[in-house]
Amino acid sequence: MSEFELFSEDELKEEIIRISKTLYERSLITALGGNISARIPGAREFWITPSQVFKGALKPDDLVKLNLDGDLVEGFLKPSIEWPMHAAVYKVRPDVNAVVHAHNPMVLGLTLAGKRIKTTITDEAVLLLRRIEEIEFKFPGTTQLAEAVAQAASRGARAIILKNHGVLALGTNLLEAEAIVELLEAIATIEFVCYTLGREPPEVPPEEIEVAKKYWGI
Ligand SMILES: [Zn+2]
Repeated sequence: MSEFELFSEDELKEEIIRISKTLYERSLITALGGNISARIPGAREFWITPSQVFKGALKPDDLVKLNLDGDLVEGFLKPSIEWPMHAAVYKVRPDVNAVVHAHNPMVLGLTLAGKRIKTTITDEAVLLLRRIEEIEFKFPGTTQLAEAVAQAASRGARAIILKNHGVLALGTNLLEAEAIVELLEAIATIEFVCYTLGREPPEVPPEEIEVAKKYWGI
């Protein structure tokens, strides 16, 4: 177990429940939408939210523990049907210990309108989002979606936009993955304001991004 280990399994589960409630209250997921998973760093098993349970008031016993093949390890309910894309990320990214999937309306709207979510319009986006990938629509729960997610994840993405569907945030821990989902929505909102007022969003100057790379090794 890593010295950076922040959570016991019970704490991981509480954090998943907190984030699920927050995303629901912020309208980033609907009552039955979205899913969240997390693992103890390096583990071959992960906890995930269940299928068809109200996401605004989950309880620890609602969560389900799976191995990377999707076999049930602990829990009583049916896991989210989108578990294959979570497992796919953990298989190819040892640095990722939390995956948050939400249905961000502003990100989806902007993307479907043909606009790109930019990682360079605020300092926070430069530092936190870094690399974003966008993948074509594949139906939720399918092997095809899991494979497309695995490919994008293996290229180092910290966020993957699933066209006509939602976003997937890949974090070293749950808080980071939550922050990525929320920041994507904030960036999309900022871009929307700029486009609405007839202006292409100006980006942080490239030389300043180079400074950030040097300072923080991003
Ligand atoms: Zn979804």
